Amino acid sequence: MADRSEILRELRLVPTWRLRAKEARTALAAKAGRGESEPAPPPASGARLSRIAGLEWRDFARDVSACTACALCRTRNKAVPGVGDPHAQWLFVGEAPGAEEDAKGEPFVGQAGRLLDNMLAALGMKRGDNVYIANVLKCRPPANRTPEPFEVESCRPYLDRQIELIRPSLIVALGKSAATTLLNVDATIASLRGRVHRYRGVPLLVTYHPAYLLRNLPDKAKAWEDLCLARATMQRLAAARDEGLESPGRGPK
Ligand code: URA
Repeated sequence: MADRSEILRELRLVPTWRLRAKEARTALAAKAGRGESEPAPPPASGARLSRIAGLEWRDFARDVSACTACALCRTRNKAVPGVGDPHAQWLFVGEAPGAEEDAKGEPFVGQAGRLLDNMLAALGMKRGDNVYIANVLKCRPPANRTPEPFEVESCRPYLDRQIELIRPSLIVALGKSAATTLLNVDATIASLRGRVHRYRGVPLLVTYHPAYLLRNLPDKAKAWEDLCLARATMQRLAAARDEGLESPGRGPK
């Protein structure tokens, strides 16, 4: 039986503390003294952003793998850009690679990934077949800790570009990191699930992260409700397209 701290780590609920500004400066100074200075922050605009905004699929994975915008580049084994049908109607977005993903360079290949595959199978779908799977962060945070805001901001342009290239009909945000990043809000999963949101015009639904569901079996029933809502939303989009009422973004085939 895992202890509480292991469970919290697995769910990426720790560490919940933040260094105070002064302590953070001291820690950074100490790191710098050891030759471990943080990489320069990625420019908020300019060359990096326009390069990423103009990436095509053929260069996307290579660009992600060469990224040094945050310190995660130092500890990753493999960057994990995403996997699946580059023109999928369904896009599932998780938080960040774990150990197995970091070793393989593919998202959701560990225990949580097996649950995600089962969730897809329950909907009659499978990864790679009209489905694309990505994460907010493309590199593993050490010990699966919660992504830092700086890391999310550094990586966000890649996710934005992926979504532009895929043009999904529907996005399913798996867990709080994906939901709050894509919707630009600070809210709980419980308050966000059960209704259709929009990311740049694309319908978006929120559900629990598979790693959370592995520890909270009763919430699997709620996740199943969310997936049924996702399926019904996709069917509604298809019907609207057939009637010529298609909303912004690409309608289902
Ligand atoms: N959890 C995630 O959010 N993404 C993965 O790829 C694996 C586990």
